[in-house]
Amino acid sequence: MPLKTRTYLDANATMPLKPGVISAIAATLAETGNASSMHGDGRLARKRVEDARAAVADLLSTNPAYVFFTGGATESNNTVINSFRGKKIFISAIEHPSVLEAAPDAQKIPVTADGVIDMDKLETMLAGQPDLISVMLVNNETGTIQPIAEIVRLVRKISPQTRIHTDAVQALGRIPVDFSALQVDYLSLSAHKFGGPQGIGALVLAPGAKIEKLLRGGGQEKRQRAGTENIAAIAGLGEAARLAVTDMENFQSLAALRDRLEATLEKAEPRLRIFGAGAPRVSNTTQIALPGIQAETQLMALDLAGMSVSSGSACSSGSVKVSHVLEAMQVPESEALGAIRVSLAWNTTQNDIDLFTAAWLEMHGRIKARIAA
Ligand code: PLP
Repeated sequence: MPLKTRTYLDANATMPLKPGVISAIAATLAETGNASSMHGDGRLARKRVEDARAAVADLLSTNPAYVFFTGGATESNNTVINSFRGKKIFISAIEHPSVLEAAPDAQKIPVTADGVIDMDKLETMLAGQPDLISVMLVNNETGTIQPIAEIVRLVRKISPQTRIHTDAVQALGRIPVDFSALQVDYLSLSAHKFGGPQGIGALVLAPGAKIEKLLRGGGQEKRQRAGTENIAAIAGLGEAARLAVTDMENFQSLAALRDRLEATLEKAEPRLRIFGAGAPRVSNTTQIALPGIQAETQLMALDLAGMSVSSGSACSSGSVKVSHVLEAMQVPESEALGAIRVSLAWNTTQNDIDLFTAAWLEMHGRIKARIAA
C-alpha cells in the first residue's frame, strides 16, 4: 500500500469512490453487451441498467419508471431548464452554475444571511406565477439545507400550475430524500457526489412532468435521452445508491468531526466566520473565512501541507471573484474573498481532521506573525 501523503477534504467537489462501487464497475466493465441488443449479452447489460434504476428509485422512495439516466447533474439541470425555454423561470440566487447559466434570464429568489431561501420574499414573488421554479436541496458551498417541502406547499397554494425542480446533488447520501413526499416535479442527481463514478447522473420526474430531450438519436431511456448507456457507470451509480441507504447514519456522524474542527479553529481565531452556521446544514460541510486573507493564499499554504480543500470563490481569468452564494448572503467582500470550503468524505477520520487543524493553525500562526511584523 502506498503511504497516504495527502488529506482529501473536498468531497463536495467529488466524493472518493466506495470499494463496493469499484467492484461493481470492474465486474460490469468485464462484460460485453449493448443494453439495446436482443441477445443474451444485451439482456445482461439491460439487467445491469434496470437493477441500477431500481436502486436509485429505492434511495428516493419512488417508482423506477420515472428515473432517467444522464451524463451527470449538469445535463439533468440543463434538460429541465431547457424544457422551459422562453417561459417564466424563478431560481434561487445560490444555485449551481449548471442552473444559473442555463437560465440567464430567470428571476432570482433571495436568501437570508444564513443562506436559506427567504420565504417572505418568495411568497411575494409567487404572485408573478412562474412556469418553473428551481431551488436546490442542499447548497454545495455552505451545506445549508433548503426547506423544499415548505417551498412546495407555498408554491402549490399561490401558483398551482408552477412546476418545481430541485437539484438534489449535494443531498443524496447526506440526508434522507423522499421524492414522493417532497412533491417536486423534477429532481437532479449526480453519482460522484455520493461515492459513485463521475459522468453519470439521473433526472427523476413526477408522473405527468414532461421534458424536452437535449440529446436526439437513439430511443434509449424510453426516448427521453438518446445515446448508448454507459453500463459500467450506471452500475456504479446503482451500487452507490444502495450503499447510500446503508451508510447514511455513518455519514451523518461526520457532524461530530466537522463541529470539532470548527470549534478548534474558532478558539484560535475569534474573527473566524462560519457561513450558514445558523441554518440546518449537512454533516460534512463547513465554509469558513479568515477575514482579510485571500482564499488562494490559504489554499496554497494548505495544499503545500498536503490538504485538498477548495475555495468558496471562483477564480476566472486570473481575477478572483466573490462566490455568488456568499454575495447572495450579503457577506462583505473582504470576508467572502477569504472563504474556503472543507467537505468531509465517507472515509474521513479524526486523524484527517487533526492533520487539517494542525496545518490550518500553522498557517494561521504564520499569517498572524506576518501581520504583526
Ligand atoms: N449541482 C450541484 C449542487 C453540484 O454541486 C454539482 C457539481 O459540482 C452539479 C450540480 C453538477 O454535477 P455534475 O458534476 O454531475 O455535472
